[in-house]
Parts: sequence; C-alpha cells; structure tokens
Amino acid sequence: MPELPEVETVCRGLSKNIIGLTIKKLIVYNNKLRYSIPNDLRKKVLHSKIKAIIRRGKYGLIMLSNDKIIIFHLGMTGIFKIAFKDTEKVKHDHLMIEFDQNVWLTYNDVRKFGYIELTQKPFDIFNLKNLGYEPFMSSYYSDFLFYKIRKRTGTIKDILLDQKFICGIGNIYASEILFAANIIPFKKGINIKKHEFFKLLKEIENILRIAIRQGGSSIKNYANPDNELGYFQTRFQVYNREGLSCYNCKSLIARVKQSGRSSFFCIKCQT
Ligand SMILES: [Zn+2]
Repeated sequence: MPELPEVETVCRGLSKNIIGLTIKKLIVYNNKLRYSIPNDLRKKVLHSKIKAIIRRGKYGLIMLSNDKIIIFHLGMTGIFKIAFKDTEKVKHDHLMIEFDQNVWLTYNDVRKFGYIELTQKPFDIFNLKNLGYEPFMSSYYSDFLFYKIRKRTGTIKDILLDQKFICGIGNIYASEILFAANIIPFKKGINIKKHEFFKLLKEIENILRIAIRQGGSSIKNYANPDNELGYFQTRFQVYNREGLSCYNCKSLIARVKQSGRSSFFCIKCQT
C-alpha cells in the first residue's frame, strides 16, 4: 500500500514528466473508484497546463493553470503510467489524460480504493483539512507533539497511523520506524519518555528519507511513474519478516495483530 515515500516518488516522477504540458484530452473509462471521479472533470481541466505537483500526507496535488487542483490518493493499488506513444487501454485503467508533446498519463487501480478529486481549495476537503504535521516538519513542533502524545492512551503504533497526528505513515513504515527507534508497538503514548519521543521523530525522518531515496517500496504492484519498481522491500528490518532473525540481535521477529493490522517487531531490540 503506497505510503508517503511512494506518493512522494510518484509526485516527483509526475513532475519530471508532465509539468508545463497542456491537457489535450481526458477519458474516464470507469468512475467507480473509492469516490466517483467528478462528472465535470474533463470539462474543467481541458486545455489547462500543469503548473506544479506537490504531496501532502499520502495525497498528491496537481496544480493547474486555471487555478483548479486535481487531488489524487492511490488507495491500495493505484499507479500512474506514463507513455510517450498512444497505448492500448488495459484492465483496471480508469482514467487517461493525453497531453501535448505526445505524453499520455493513465491511472490504473486494481482494487479501486484510490480516488481522484477536483477542487479549487484543497484544504476545504475533509481529508486534507484534518491532516497532521508533515513528518519532515514535525521536529520543529517536537515539544508540542510530545505534550500531545503524553495525553494519548492509545498505542504508539496506532498514534503513528493516525493521520491527524503526523501524516503519511502507514502500516509498513510504522513497523520499520518503531524498530529503528527501539520502541515496542504496543507502548502507550502516555508512557513514552521524552528522549524516546525525540529519537522516534528522528527515525521517522530517517526511515522515510531512505525510502524516498530508494524510490519507494515495490510491494504488490506499486510502480513509480517511470515504471521503475523500488527496492526498499529487500531492506525491511522487521516488516513481513515474522519468524526470521533480527539483523541486530538474532532474536526472532514477531508479528501481532493490532487494531486489525499486523505489527512486526523484535522483542529484544524494542521495549
Ligand atoms: Zn533484535
């Protein structure tokens, strides 16, 4: 499932390929994604130019020259494909945009949990308005975040997944971050010590930066817009390594279900 590093990779890949281009044609093959693709999308974006592309949490924002913004969320299996010649529609292609200069962009999503929205004010949209701090900004607010976390009775794993606290972290990187910070996933927010929390913030940045550098993970069918698969998955320390030995201490990596999702951890390295 794409998390911050994958979405960042997608945004960078899209920026490299479509900024400055004009939308010539847009076809919605299927609008039944998590939320329906707006009926007037084509009408509202046609002939506009791509000005900038940014990421916020796990959302991508494509800014257009007519001041409208296309917002995308990749859900579980959403991918963008870039082509430099007209290509055949394949299964699970839901949207195709043709640009000038012979560039085609297709959104493909097998499980259809992703979505595409159009807005003028992205922060009015429910999901964006309620997003917490960006991970790379959170160290500026470390004292405030620590004050907040000390009031939380939920587990640190659930707090990391809470997009209203710090945004962009999902199940994979939460396990990796907690391992790097030597914190057991079921420790309660209220019990986190200040030095642990500061280390956690540092590891959030570290782990996400490494993942972005490596092009995002290639778990399931995730691909960046150049169709280059990432390779961070081969370097996971704990994620999906249940029963294998910890690279650090040789103990076995354990897996438990937490709020319905798997947490991977080393009982010796994480306390
Ligand atoms: Zn260990």
